[in-house]
Amino acid sequence: MSFQKTCAVISVALLAACGASKSSPATKGSATGDVSGNAPSTGGAGNQPAASANDTGPKLPANHMGRIPVLEYHVIGGTQNALYTRTVASFKADLEDVYKRGYRPITVAQMLDKNFGDVPDGMSPVIFVFDDASPSQFSYIQGADGKLTIDPNSAIGIWEDFMKTHPGWKNRGTFCMLNGAAAGHNFFGDTPKYGGQQKAWRFQKVKWLADNGFELCDHTIWHMKLNKYPDAAVQQQIAGNMMAIDSAVAGYKVRTMALPYGLWPTNKSLAWQGTWTDPKTGIAHPYHFDAVLEVAGGPTRSPYDPQFDPHHITRVQAVANDIHTVLDQLDKSKTRFVK
Ligand SMILES: [Zn+2]
Repeated sequence: MSFQKTCAVISVALLAACGASKSSPATKGSATGDVSGNAPSTGGAGNQPAASANDTGPKLPANHMGRIPVLEYHVIGGTQNALYTRTVASFKADLEDVYKRGYRPITVAQMLDKNFGDVPDGMSPVIFVFDDASPSQFSYIQGADGKLTIDPNSAIGIWEDFMKTHPGWKNRGTFCMLNGAAAGHNFFGDTPKYGGQQKAWRFQKVKWLADNGFELCDHTIWHMKLNKYPDAAVQQQIAGNMMAIDSAVAGYKVRTMALPYGLWPTNKSLAWQGTWTDPKTGIAHPYHFDAVLEVAGGPTRSPYDPQFDPHHITRVQAVANDIHTVLDQLDKSKTRFVK
């Protein structure tokens, strides 16, 4: 799937992104290495209860060295599954599958902090990551009175419904967003042409995610193939996306980035650390992320594993029956992380 736009459009997107930029403050409330966990350090989800007492899923012996599935979704919808599309029915089936097996959702940031406070003892963390910020992930429906409600068939609407009927399931997951790509991949839709979404709703959606317990993640401005561009362009793409997130949620500390197509920049470390200096203002915009997400590679290592490398977090793509198969393998080999 290609999201690339012309240079003219990129500059417009970047200008918009630069509007309210400021440097990111230090991480709020970074958690300790306590497996019992604290509140997530990212997002404003402090009002949600800790691991629910009425959450009575299957319980397994603790395994803090086990693997954690980081699931990767793109478009939720359509009539049949494809590489970048998961139907609503399949997405719902995935949720039921992981829930039944005793997985409970956390964010990448929580994993980095070894914060498993949202996972009851004897259960396992799972991380849902949504890439590319398509309207199918987060849509609003506008009523006759102008009031906005979340579309129950968008990923967030499905998630909210699922949470109501599944004790212990919370608003935890990571959204790796684009803010200036083609076909409405711009903070979940930038024109009614794409899923009836309005440009004015974009920041509201991003803020809703942060306020409700989800993690915001950098995925570049328009899904640049980072291996094909010089250092300056790479840093502009990454910093520009971070600045746009900051425009939606002032002061938000982005900790995770996902590589578009899984492609590394020539200077690999620019994926997690760099600086873009705005030629117009001369202002430097540095970025420094704790985690980089790859596109594949299977369930990731535990943060307790000495070989855990936060700059190479592997994922499981939501393709065909892959998630189900991977979870089966983890159970069979008893290599699943259990709190
Ligand atoms: Zn992507």
